[in-house]
Amino acid sequence: MRDRTGRPSRVDPGSVGQGRPPALPPIGPEGALPPSGSVIPEAAWRRALDLIGKADEIALACHVSPDGDALGSMLATGSVLRALGKRVIASFGDRQFAVPRLLHFLPGQDLLVPPADVPAEPELMITFDSSTPDRLGLLGANTAKAHEVIVIDHHLSNTGFGTLSLIDPHVAATAVLAEQLIYRLGGSLDRDIATCLYAGLVTDTGSFRYSSTTPEVHQMAARLVATGLRTDEIARELWDRSPFGYLKVLAAALDRVSLEDHLVWTYVPRVDRAAYGLPYAELEGLIDIVRRTDEAEVAAVLKEDDHGAWQVSTRSKGAVDVGSICAALGGGGHHNAAGFTSHGSVEDIMAAFRALLANADGEA
Ligand code: AMP
Ligand code: MN
Ligand code: MN
Repeated sequence: MRDRTGRPSRVDPGSVGQGRPPALPPIGPEGALPPSGSVIPEAAWRRALDLIGKADEIALACHVSPDGDALGSMLATGSVLRALGKRVIASFGDRQFAVPRLLHFLPGQDLLVPPADVPAEPELMITFDSSTPDRLGLLGANTAKAHEVIVIDHHLSNTGFGTLSLIDPHVAATAVLAEQLIYRLGGSLDRDIATCLYAGLVTDTGSFRYSSTTPEVHQMAARLVATGLRTDEIARELWDRSPFGYLKVLAAALDRVSLEDHLVWTYVPRVDRAAYGLPYAELEGLIDIVRRTDEAEVAAVLKEDDHGAWQVSTRSKGAVDVGSICAALGGGGHHNAAGFTSHGSVEDIMAAFRALLANADGEA
């Protein structure tokens, strides 16, 4: 596997799982489609197959600072398109292009190119898990100039910025829609492709804990696990490891945590990370520790990235729609999990967030 950061990855995707079971037989448009709970009209899927059928080269993009759903959905789809004979390149538009360490185990990373190597005007672009062109970072410009753009996403806030929308806010993850596309293309699910889709499903359902975890989600998980992937190894890669410096940065973040009425929040300036050489992406799980606070309804973590911008992660237990609050602050997301980016100070960001939260509380 090519490691974008140049560091050796500790798990070779070829070694995830014992023995390589045969690929499942392809399930094409004529075969039975697995249930997904999705409400995307058949005509939209047919148009997607038509656009893909006509394209020789397909550029794939997912949102910046990709998570398991964004990168997993993109790499799974890309591997299938390549197996079908398409020229495929995949990328994401971060200025510092590097796959986050916790996603190094995902197979199919040889599809990845830096954003500068993506054609300026792709014939066909497919975007994954991105609710707006902004979320595509540097690749927003390529998307605007692409001849056709298929947008595959599950954010309610998606602006429908493509020439074809495969958008369904009812599904738990973009990976659900990627699997549907793969089946419709007549592709087969081998263990590597299933590993990518499973990473998306397990990330966005919080390991099958969130309310988005429907019977169809478990049925999809069963199909994926049946390919022989190792759920234990994937879980360890995603959540159960970090460099030692993370503990130190975590300790400082927890030391400055505040509880104000029903809001619990903290922040991590980049100097904290610099002291231990800790990459920004290692902070992804911090919000999950902060949001466990019984006394709080809403949790927020402000993380200063390597460019000095504050990336704000927010979570709600259900009564407050943090998606709307973050959208009002220029970001987006879902009812219970959302985020935004700000160049202001911690004090100003929190003042703006508190004001919107007070309004939302009033309406609840
Ligand atoms: P995170 O807190 O980074 O795990 O993100 C939670 C949710 O908020 C995800 O669905 C993201 O797509 C969305 N989100 C996070 N940051 C932003 C942002 N800067 N702009 C728009 N949406 C965001
Ligand atoms: Mn995502
Ligand atoms: Mn997602």
